Amino acid sequence: MSVIGVSCTQGNNTFDECLDCTTECINKPLRKLLFKYNAPRGKGISASMLTNQCPLCPILTIKYDIYRPIQDLHASTYGSVIHQALSEEALPTDVSEVRFKDKLGGIEYSGQIDRLDTLTNHLTDYKTKAYISAKHSVSLEHHWQVNIYRYLAELNGHKVDSASILYLDPRGWLDIAVVREEPRDVKIYLEPKLTALHDGIHNNIMPKAVIHWLCEKRTVYCPVADYCMKLERGVK
Ligand code: SF4
Ligand code: SF4
Repeated sequence: MSVIGVSCTQGNNTFDECLDCTTECINKPLRKLLFKYNAPRGKGISASMLTNQCPLCPILTIKYDIYRPIQDLHASTYGSVIHQALSEEALPTDVSEVRFKDKLGGIEYSGQIDRLDTLTNHLTDYKTKAYISAKHSVSLEHHWQVNIYRYLAELNGHKVDSASILYLDPRGWLDIAVVREEPRDVKIYLEPKLTALHDGIHNNIMPKAVIHWLCEKRTVYCPVADYCMKLERGVK
């Protein structure tokens, strides 16, 4: 399903139930904002799911009804608010927040482009971070994600001469170029990942989790950490 509510001292409550709650433990406008930007998503496969470091995470996120501590919704809300504000400032010549689709091996996937400047043919992906250092570099996941956006934009008739990620933190930003991957290599990257995601979502064939140091932070980092601990490590 995806994240459908919050877990708190009152147990698990859907977003609507939390908004009706008389305990009012958190400012109601803040709750409304958090829930607006964390609304449940569909079952479609997106570029960010395809490039997730852990293939199990997006599958479990789609399959389960997830209730998260309300504080854990804050980081994604902050990112979404920045994206929304930047898309409102897009130029008339920009392709902004457009979702492109494609099928490989009969499996559909999509990617939403933050900004394609059609005057310079430069594609920009916005990423918010808690902290960026001057030495920040593009991770492998982000590199491929942007190359999927580029591939999808080109498939849909757009010219993309260059691409970058504009990393933003509360203190500033860094714009880092992303090296182009050839369409053939993007397809080679995509095909096994698409099949694994499709099999997990629709046929219940689960890939192995890729456990990394951030997983230890459990729900703060990964919305399905608790399900994963039970599945992968037998933790109750
Ligand atoms: S308002 Fe606070 S106590 Fe009430 S359901 Fe929401 S998070 Fe829980
Ligand atoms: S906790 Fe880590 S290993 Fe488990 S699903 Fe989440 S990202 Fe994957």
